Amino acid sequence: MECAGQVALVTGGSRGIGRAVAVRLAEAGCDIALTHRGSAAEAEAVAAHIAGLGRQVRLFQGDLADPEVPQRLVGEVRDAFGRVDVLVNNAGIGGEGLLVSMDPADIGRVLATNLVGPMLLTRAVALTMMRQRYGRIVNVSSAAASRPGPGQAGYAASKGGLEAFTRAMAVELGSRGILVNAVAPGIVRTDMTEALLDAAAPELLKRQIVGAFAEPEAVADAVAYLASPRNTHTTGTVLHVDGGLKMV
Ligand code: NAP
Repeated sequence: MECAGQVALVTGGSRGIGRAVAVRLAEAGCDIALTHRGSAAEAEAVAAHIAGLGRQVRLFQGDLADPEVPQRLVGEVRDAFGRVDVLVNNAGIGGEGLLVSMDPADIGRVLATNLVGPMLLTRAVALTMMRQRYGRIVNVSSAAASRPGPGQAGYAASKGGLEAFTRAMAVELGSRGILVNAVAPGIVRTDMTEALLDAAAPELLKRQIVGAFAEPEAVADAVAYLASPRNTHTTGTVLHVDGGLKMV
């Protein structure tokens, strides 16, 4: 129970990687503030699982692409728990499409969700963490930030921006006991990749040095280390959890 007494805010915890992260942090002893956009039933199922582990858990709903939402959500979390020790900026969307055929509104939506949302959430928790003189922030990036495929212009730009933001925040917040890192998954079995894997799993598998796609728990373990008090000196890094994808 290395995180006993801590509170973790995990965005996009209703499904996929966010669900696995929330459960893993609860197993480590964190009470969990879980956000979702619309999947209320799935979020409630995750909350029931976490409550079964003996942790406190509360659900918060909001569209993180709306710039009004992050400050409101963090205020609700502070009212409910009184502190925030860990922020995991996990919620994200794919936003695939060749740039020339992308609607400008879709470009705006992927940047708002994957980049501006995490920036505003970090802004909203930073003062609380600074007062605590303790915080761990983990941003969920993607292998696409460093190795984009065709049709990933918006997504790669959002995740590349998120990695640059991670380094900038590590510099701004490190002296206050707040460590800021990112994880960059490759291909993980979630709703986001279901269609991709249905269409091209054998081809994509050739690029996995470890010979298998990741399950969400592999990413959750990496996040859990970076978010824990055991992590005392890793900040401003991007931990790749991609089965060796970036080397081939
Ligand atoms: P997922 O299964 O599609 O789940 C996405 C989660 O984000 C859901 O909880 C969803 O909430 C929430 N969300 C999406 N848009 C939101 C918004 N505008 N406001 C609030 N919440 C929102 O995705 P995933 O595969 O677990 O991906 C999680 C993160 O990992 C993303 O940042 C993604 O870019 C990154 N990633 C995934 C992979 C992969 O292979 N799966 C690879 C690299 C990086 P609702 O359920 O309520 O809609």
